[in-house]
Amino acid sequence: MTSLLPALRGASGRTDSPEAVRFGEHVLTYAQLADASASLGARIAGAGRVAVWATSTPETVVAVVAALRAGVPAVPLNPKTGEKELAHIVADSAPSVVLAGADDELPSALGGLERIDVGTAAAAPPPEAGFPEPSEESPALVVYTSGTTGPPKGAVLPRRAIAASLDALEDAWGWTGEDVLVHALPLFHVHGLILGVLGPLRRGGSVRHLGRFSAEGVARELLSGGTMLFGVPTMYHRLAGELAGPAGPGNLAKALAGARLLVSGSAALPVHDHERIAAATGRGVIERYGMTETLMNTGVRADGAPRAGTVGPPLAGVELRLVEEDGTVLRETASIGEIQVRGPNLFTGYLNRPDATAAAFTEDGFFRTGDMATIDPDGYVRIVGRKATDLIKSGGYKIGAGEIENALLEHPGVREAAVTGEPDADLGERIVAWVVPAGPGAPPGERELADHVADLLAPHKRPRVVRYLDALPRNELGKIMKRSLRA
Ligand code: ATP
Ligand code: MG
Repeated sequence: MTSLLPALRGASGRTDSPEAVRFGEHVLTYAQLADASASLGARIAGAGRVAVWATSTPETVVAVVAALRAGVPAVPLNPKTGEKELAHIVADSAPSVVLAGADDELPSALGGLERIDVGTAAAAPPPEAGFPEPSEESPALVVYTSGTTGPPKGAVLPRRAIAASLDALEDAWGWTGEDVLVHALPLFHVHGLILGVLGPLRRGGSVRHLGRFSAEGVARELLSGGTMLFGVPTMYHRLAGELAGPAGPGNLAKALAGARLLVSGSAALPVHDHERIAAATGRGVIERYGMTETLMNTGVRADGAPRAGTVGPPLAGVELRLVEEDGTVLRETASIGEIQVRGPNLFTGYLNRPDATAAAFTEDGFFRTGDMATIDPDGYVRIVGRKATDLIKSGGYKIGAGEIENALLEHPGVREAAVTGEPDADLGERIVAWVVPAGPGAPPGERELADHVADLLAPHKRPRVVRYLDALPRNELGKIMKRSLRA
């Protein structure tokens, strides 16, 4: 395998070096990133594992790239993580050092670790010698899962998986060094870090990070050279709202229409938002589906047709199948099964969790994603939800929460919706809808919403209970935390 970040080779010292990353006023060219990461890399070489205090700053990029070059596994930490969860992650991953910016205030959970200031270490003269290329299977990153279904688990990601997944996306999206990515995601998960930073850097392209997501920021960057936007569904929801808002589509519609690629992932993009954006801009948002353990599994191709409610076909090199509860592989993929995947994009295992790792793989090496789906006749995968929280068994039917959520969102009185199952003496489970009403007026009644769903879908998909909330519990990536809804 060639280097993970070939564009950094030979970049050092060049005065004509192109921009690599930009955070507002702060720009790093490839030459600057090569030098800074080499200096920091030399400082941490030989460390067992390093934690990275992953703020949305150039320091985080330098720290991660330095660790990758030095062959030291990096553990990106979410600076907003609560003390208890952070203490768990630190104890679990046992880093010897934490890399942070000069101004970062680190919580006491990190108190026992040696701290290296990224800026100071990166400003030292770069080492004379380069770094030997680590082996393909050596761990590059330990990324903790989002904790949607239980406490976060540390997924050990080898260089091979990162390279394979980024190359599969290059193939699907015609991703080149000319692309300029508009980025507003946090840098401690696969989406923002591996796709959003390492993706462009692997190609020799560039990243413009907005710091905080805003529709104006997206419009501004796309109208001034940005070619791609990677976002999570909550961002597209806000863009859809702006496009339909009193100011009208205007610049934003022009910006989105002119982008080469609009990509959504990390959670399902509601059909309603997909349609509103398409109506205002003429552009379909492309969905891709992945997870921390497997990196990217499927994605609509740049030359393919985006289809609302689907995440596209398997990416190059990924084998994907649907499996019934008893382990039988489904031949008839119009019915719901669990997605299992196999390919070079897979992680090596969970840190310190041989039990969970063993349980996650089948005998023939497929990873059990825990996500349920059907597959359209042309191979586009349609995720219906997670086995643990989104598959409701009611009255003898298997019902996916996703399509009911999509139906609820089509009601003008509904702003946000989540659907769960609850034990029911008659039905086994009953369908519960959690609804955030749109606007200040009286919310649509329980009966009205249930009829609306039954009319759009089928009578057995009618919610039996509707609960009204001011907001749905979501994490930083906008994923709905159904664990806390059910609790
Ligand atoms: P945990 O594993 O700790 O419970 P998590 O599964 O949310 O948390 P991640 O690895 O960040 O942690 O997320 C992967 C999951 O996100 C997938 O298994 C899937 O359920 C969901 N997901 C990702 N992309 C999409 C998508 N395009 N459409 C629907 N769901 C998606
Ligand atoms: Mg998961």
